[in-house]
Amino acid sequence: MIEAASIYAGSTRLVQNLNFMPRVRYAENIAGAPANCVASTKPWRAEFATEGARVEIPRLQFALYDEASNRVTFRQSARPDIVKYRCNRPHEWIISAPAHLTGCAAAPTLLRRENAQGRVMNRQIERHRVEGQSGAPLAKFSDPDWTATGERRARVGLRALKTLWFNTGTLCNIACENCYILSSPTNDALAYLNLAEVETYLDEIATLGLPTGEMGFTGGEPFLNPDLPAMADAALERGHRVLILTNAMRPMMRKAPRKALASLAARFGERLVLRVSLDHYAALHHDAERGVGSFAASLAGMRWLRDNGVRMTVAGRTIWGEDEVSARAGYAALFAAEGFAIDAADRSECVLFPEMDDSADVPEISAACWGVLNKRPDDVMCATSRMVVKRRAAARPVVLACTLLAYDPRFELGHTLAEAQRTVSLNHPHCAKFCVLGGATCSA
Ligand code: SF4
Ligand code: SF4
Repeated sequence: MIEAASIYAGSTRLVQNLNFMPRVRYAENIAGAPANCVASTKPWRAEFATEGARVEIPRLQFALYDEASNRVTFRQSARPDIVKYRCNRPHEWIISAPAHLTGCAAAPTLLRRENAQGRVMNRQIERHRVEGQSGAPLAKFSDPDWTATGERRARVGLRALKTLWFNTGTLCNIACENCYILSSPTNDALAYLNLAEVETYLDEIATLGLPTGEMGFTGGEPFLNPDLPAMADAALERGHRVLILTNAMRPMMRKAPRKALASLAARFGERLVLRVSLDHYAALHHDAERGVGSFAASLAGMRWLRDNGVRMTVAGRTIWGEDEVSARAGYAALFAAEGFAIDAADRSECVLFPEMDDSADVPEISAACWGVLNKRPDDVMCATSRMVVKRRAAARPVVLACTLLAYDPRFELGHTLAEAQRTVSLNHPHCAKFCVLGGATCSA
């Protein structure tokens, strides 16, 4: 018996006070096992399809061990100490109660979920620990729906897919001190995307009629990927704008990429933009991050872009404690001296990124924070963008919530853009520090 369970779609409770659920014998795959349907009288709303269904079952706490019968009895804890079983696909549900849940309160609870299409997803929810009469507290950022203090976690729905990023691979010709994605000449954790894979997503955008105006290519160093010019060409040919993030060093300056870039710029003009990473306007700071001589190499690349009519912008960093006005003045002086057509005062042409300190203790963002901070879910990147990556040895690419969390599997949303339209829970420190509190955006 499970007392007082509820089923939600988003924040709407469809049914409540479910007192009995059929017990299904534990197995690796419970497809075809019996389950009951629950009818809700709530009117259907379109967002239910993207919000997905969620079953909330109050956590069972150890209450009594009867040596005579060798049985453990549990009792229901009070909210918000709740176990939440979540699935993001429209479906029917079957929930199994593993046999060991009734026999050992310290064993992991394993959940099997089966939807109408026959897909099985499993997830180890959490360990039920027996520490006196209380369950273990949630760690910060661990639960997709609840903060450690029991508040509803902030979530962001995809308002409109305006920018689709492609991570062309994590290999890079250099290894910067503070590379957010840990790129280097040896890190191939994200493999090269190829033209056919990118075209699949371009096709899907057309088929679904998505309002995706901009295609971003990031790495690693995108010009190491031999398909980059063809991938950019394919996106431009279909009428999209293309933004390529590059260090403008040797990989871009090889003969073939230069020839391709000059051709693309001549054919598509300002719809092609290269955003060059120039950490600081002074060689001293830039080279401290990227290695001696890297400032000079990037400037040489920028001069070539200038001379060949390729539109460019700059991305810098703010790790030197310099105020923004001084930093923009420094960049403005450099651009003027070099004849670069970049407006240092324009935040989309000269993007200054805050640092992402993984060790910093940041607050969790609850649903109530939006009002307190006077921010809107629509303002963060995952409201308008997604990123496609291909993990090393993976058969096909996967779509992530954003560019910032390339290695965290909790932010994988599916293989297709249709699947990736679902809501994102902000349960990573970057969500708080970089997006909600820092207000950063990756797009132009
Ligand atoms: S150039 Fe960019 S991708 Fe390469 S290591 Fe530096 S920050 Fe990372
Ligand atoms: S890091 Fe930012 S863009 Fe990425 S999921 Fe979190 S809030 Fe969204």
